[in-house]
Amino acid sequence: MSQTKLRIAIQKSGRLYEDSVKLLAECGIDLRNVKDRLKTESDNFPLEVFFLRDDDIPQYVEDGVADIGIVGENVLYEKNKQTTIVEQLGFGKCRLAIAVPRGQEYESVKALEGKRIATSYPFLTKQFLNDNNVNAEIHEISGSVEIAPGIGLADVVCDLVSSGSTLFMNGLKEVETILQSQSVLIKNNKLNEAQQQLLKKLVFRIQAVKKAKRTKYVLLNAPNDKLKEIIALLPGMKSPTVLPLAQEGWSSVHSVLSEDTFWDIIEQLKDKGAQGILVVPIEKMII
Ligand code: ATP
Ligand code: ZN
Repeated sequence: MSQTKLRIAIQKSGRLYEDSVKLLAECGIDLRNVKDRLKTESDNFPLEVFFLRDDDIPQYVEDGVADIGIVGENVLYEKNKQTTIVEQLGFGKCRLAIAVPRGQEYESVKALEGKRIATSYPFLTKQFLNDNNVNAEIHEISGSVEIAPGIGLADVVCDLVSSGSTLFMNGLKEVETILQSQSVLIKNNKLNEAQQQLLKKLVFRIQAVKKAKRTKYVLLNAPNDKLKEIIALLPGMKSPTVLPLAQEGWSSVHSVLSEDTFWDIIEQLKDKGAQGILVVPIEKMII
């Protein structure tokens, strides 16, 4: 019987490529020489990796040519294929937005009535227009959408934005957000039991990596008479670790802090007399 393997489709080159390969590496999955290849595999996890154009990934995963894939939600929803999202991955963040020439007045979505909209996302754009009872002409173009108004190809664009600087440089302003997007792990809907088990293993590792990214390990020295107050500030995983220091009257306190509350708590710790505060990244976090 051949050993079960998972086949994952990731972007061949482009904005998602590096983060996808990095995520696998952080999950402890070593890939054989990935440069200039269509596929590769891992020697220490039963995973085969296919490198594809991101636009093709939903189709391949629906068809079962690949079992799982990493793709932006923007592409996933545009292609509208039958797959299931397993996990949000937190990278490749962007939004699909409508932008109009900066000088143009825009009060509501009604301003789009009768306009020519250039986009690489005809399905999502159409859906947005329908939801808002607006009739407009959609011009599908595959790249450099933002220059369409400038060259008279369209009045308006519907395009991916992250910082907004590309729109700005092309004299456009963002007026509607159609979709907030990030990359996700998707799976084929008919995985067998053995594949599901393997996927569970992979997702477990991904979650540990994600959790670790949001947390820091903190070590500090505390005067014993302030220890109680200092410990009260630290959530820790269960409770902080407290060790006596060689110097009488002082202890070393170790704990884990989440990114959201991090700066707030550090300030308060200093105010309470904590010294020598060290903040260390966490590689994996399993709870
Ligand atoms: P491919 O050759 O694979 O089709 P592409 O040109 O369609 O590549 P990229 O520009 O590499 O795609 O973008 C891939 C994905 O990265 C997008 O679909 C989106 O999910 C995400 N992304 C994040 N920020 C941006 C951005 N500012 N502009 C475009 N895509 C972005
Ligand atoms: Zn693409």
